[in-house]
Amino acid sequence: MTGMSFRTRIIKAGSLEIGGTHPVRIQSMTNTDTLDTASCVSQCIRIIEAGGELVRLTAQGIREAENLAAIRRELRRAGFDTPLCADIHFNPAAAEVAARIVEKVRINPGNYADKRASFIQHDLTESEYAAELERIRNRLQPLINICREYGTAVRIGVNHGSLSDRIMTRYGNTSEGMAVSAAEFLRIFRSEGFNNIIVSLKSSDTRVMVESNRMIVRMMSEEGMDYPIHLGITEAGEGEDGRIISAAGIGTLLAEGIGDTVRVSLSEAPEREIPVAREIIRFIGGPSGRVTIPSPPITMAPVIERYIPSVLTDNNGVYIDEKGEPCEQDIFSFSADELQYQDDDEVLSKVLNPVFNEDDHERLSIDAAALLGRFFIARRPAGLIISNRGKVRGEALRSIAFAILQATEARITRTRYISCPTCGRTKFNLEEAVRRVKEATSHLTGMKIAVMGCVVNGPGEMAGSDYGYVGAAEGKVHIYRGTEAVMKNIPENEALTLLLELIERDQAKR
Ligand code: SF4
Repeated sequence: MTGMSFRTRIIKAGSLEIGGTHPVRIQSMTNTDTLDTASCVSQCIRIIEAGGELVRLTAQGIREAENLAAIRRELRRAGFDTPLCADIHFNPAAAEVAARIVEKVRINPGNYADKRASFIQHDLTESEYAAELERIRNRLQPLINICREYGTAVRIGVNHGSLSDRIMTRYGNTSEGMAVSAAEFLRIFRSEGFNNIIVSLKSSDTRVMVESNRMIVRMMSEEGMDYPIHLGITEAGEGEDGRIISAAGIGTLLAEGIGDTVRVSLSEAPEREIPVAREIIRFIGGPSGRVTIPSPPITMAPVIERYIPSVLTDNNGVYIDEKGEPCEQDIFSFSADELQYQDDDEVLSKVLNPVFNEDDHERLSIDAAALLGRFFIARRPAGLIISNRGKVRGEALRSIAFAILQATEARITRTRYISCPTCGRTKFNLEEAVRRVKEATSHLTGMKIAVMGCVVNGPGEMAGSDYGYVGAAEGKVHIYRGTEAVMKNIPENEALTLLLELIERDQAKR
């Protein structure tokens, strides 16, 4: 059985065409201060030279939005015509300025026309709900007019963790809430005859990201909409874990024929995201990233069901289980090129044993996650053993297997980290902070710890974390327990110690 292809319309961001049968486009985002023209231009160039086809910059206020003109001018002067995208939160006025300057504007339905979600019940009758949507339409109208006049594309970018109170009250912080939030904005743009739009639904949770994207595809299909889709996992973190979680989520959807652009969000230099995105795309769909035969979506097993997939060890051709005994489970071995379309229940309930032929560790971990993510997001296989005829062997393969199970939340065996990719709002060295937090907390198996660049979006987007280390101002950090900031404006050099003391105190009380 094979899945249905979702053929999208073609939209334009400057000279870049997105959607249809065009190759899946790769993009990234700067993390420099948008008021610092020279730094932004240099970073844009590094992203473009690495293969980025569209570059996003944060425009948190009017001044930043206005400075996009200087950045764009300098880039063009340097010979680069790559389209730029302004990233907007909370500030329609900044969006209206940016839309006159850059080729694309990203808005977040959770905070464009609504103030920051306070996560309080906001019960509305049907007529009050309709009136809210009318208010949003009026708020969007000037932006739509400007984008129409200037030929600017719009991304409707929903994030799990920054849904409006209106959506949270009716749907909760769910995949459905994300899809409804996106659909409401899509309908407004469409009814105004503005169709140069792309939509994204991102989460740090692979299951939510996959589910919400499938839902918006279904909703769009039912309503005759065909807007392109941008894919990404938010707060993916860094290093191997960041690559694996991104590949698991993005790879799953690309294999189903969903996705027209991709961003891998790593807490690393943005240009390092590009080769990872390129490898996910290449592995799933060749140079274009477009699969010829989409895989059918695998039905997800309920999360409440007990599910502990095993990780086997290859002992000279004998597969050993975690008790050290020869494995008695059914094993399904296959060449890694072949699994994409294997979806019958018999296969799904076995221990999957993909056989790679790969010498490069990073490429193997990306490919394995892109290939296997969809099976473990659906919580279906009985276990995993990765084989490889290339140079990567032994414990490295087991470690990749555990990382894939962790990334898909199929089996948690390590501390869970989420960290944002940073942007112009970040006021501290997040990469270094992530490294130090990881070093100090790697023994806390199962705990979810977030390291986020700013208090504007960080707390919402780290929802579900046990603790958070969030940049507050230059050299200052807020420490969160759950969603509550329990220590504010701590000097950065004291923050890690105070976070560890807090965790210790909490654990002593349990
Ligand atoms: S959490 Fe803040 S600093 Fe990090 S990427 Fe999001 S907006 Fe930028």
